[in-house]
Amino acid sequence: MSTTVLKFGGTSVATPEAIERLASIVSGVAGDRVIVVSATAGTTNALIAAANAAGAGDAEGAEAAVERLQREHDLLYQKVVRAKVDVVCAGLQELAERTKALLRSVGLLRECSRRSRDAILAYGELASSEIVAAALRARGVEAEPVAATGIVVTDDAFGNAAPVFDETYARATSVLGPMLRAGQVPVVTGFIGATRDGVTTTLGRGASDYTAAILAAALRADECLIYTDVSGVMSADPRIVPSAKPLPQLSYAEAAELSYFGAKVLHPRAVLPAVELGIPVRILNTFAASDAGTTIVGEAVPDGSVVKATTSLGGLALLTVQGAGMSGIPGFAAKVFDTTAAQDVSVLMISQASSENSICIVVPADTVDRLKDALERMLAKELAHHDVERVAVERPIAVVAAVGDGMRGTPGVAARVFGALGRLRINVVAIAQGSSELNISFCVAEADQARAVRAIHDEFHSSSATRPSASGTLVS
Ligand code: ADP
Ligand code: ASP
Ligand code: MG
Repeated sequence: MSTTVLKFGGTSVATPEAIERLASIVSGVAGDRVIVVSATAGTTNALIAAANAAGAGDAEGAEAAVERLQREHDLLYQKVVRAKVDVVCAGLQELAERTKALLRSVGLLRECSRRSRDAILAYGELASSEIVAAALRARGVEAEPVAATGIVVTDDAFGNAAPVFDETYARATSVLGPMLRAGQVPVVTGFIGATRDGVTTTLGRGASDYTAAILAAALRADECLIYTDVSGVMSADPRIVPSAKPLPQLSYAEAAELSYFGAKVLHPRAVLPAVELGIPVRILNTFAASDAGTTIVGEAVPDGSVVKATTSLGGLALLTVQGAGMSGIPGFAAKVFDTTAAQDVSVLMISQASSENSICIVVPADTVDRLKDALERMLAKELAHHDVERVAVERPIAVVAAVGDGMRGTPGVAARVFGALGRLRINVVAIAQGSSELNISFCVAEADQARAVRAIHDEFHSSSATRPSASGTLVS
């Protein structure tokens, strides 16, 4: 019998109409089915805001926010199970009470640790798994909510935990296997996991895709279907380039590059567990289920394109360590990256001039001040001797990446990319090309982000693309 993992994102579980579509998609799939759900759209953000408010001492405001979420969830539940107004789901009430209690303790301490935050965020996915399972049951599908805290074993890097694969795979088979054999449809929470000691963790923003791929790998599923609100991975973010087209096929490598550089449609780590086992991942639209979507496979069949998609990521900063004396200091770059690691700052892009007079690194804007201070402390002697002139910061910055397997070995791609930017007088702050040669990425001021994406998209998809608007503003 075939096994299919179906993941439904935030908008696909947020309204009665969406859940109706979800139910008909699930009913149309033969064989064993495992559902993975995200929190309803906006819930995780609301919970983060509530956790921050409680941490700042406003426990009342935070509790009120959870009560609002609880009312929304109750209403959704009533609509999808077609219940009378006064029917409430006990599971949902219990979840909300627990979350409010957590927020009260955070409020008392006036400190929200990453660990407490993860416990608070779990509410979102736990609530939607209750609702979706109830909706499916009301339509005759024997669905059961399952908390991934009992399946996905992770390390204790709260907020961005990494799964321990062998233990997770073993638990997935022991928890889900018997359910599937009994003809049940597990509705598993995406995004969350737990340490070996059972403390709740989260796998990073947008990581429900990752949960789906992990479970698909654990169960040796035949397919992993990621249902979202667009008809696949597109040649650019449709909010920036409204004429962007869905891509029928992508290689794992292309998909990984695109998601790494901001294509929110798929979580960057999500393809890995599937690639290892050759499980095809398909991105499909809950609201247009018959659209072909995008299939992500080991090796994409060449389609003659050079740049397949252009993607971008804002909210970043460019930090430059600069000085003529740097070239003489052995292990200099290593020292810089040791400091970055010690500060727990993730680096998105690196470029070093061949003169060795500067190292540029791109990091999230909200971590750059902390990193700059740490680097200045680490380099105090070099700065005093003017071996290092300065640690400079530019922000806000965006990284734009042009991605495509067809770029490999095709001469003149960089010239076209930078020619297109030059014609629009978009200033490029730093450049990097991955050694895999399937992406060219560069930094621009965040104000130029949308214009730069449109310029590249126009250059490589000119028959279908629109001309960049004069304002370059992001349409959302
Ligand atoms: P879900 O909640 O279903 O996981 P997300 O909001 O995380 O959905 O991801 C889907 C969104 O990703 C789309 O609505 C779209 O705005 C955005 N997106 C960004 N880049 C791309 C791209 N290249 N192709 C498709 N969607 C993209
Ligand atoms: N709910 C989580 C988030 O908003 C995970 C997900 O949606 O994939 O980040
Ligand atoms: Mg997502």
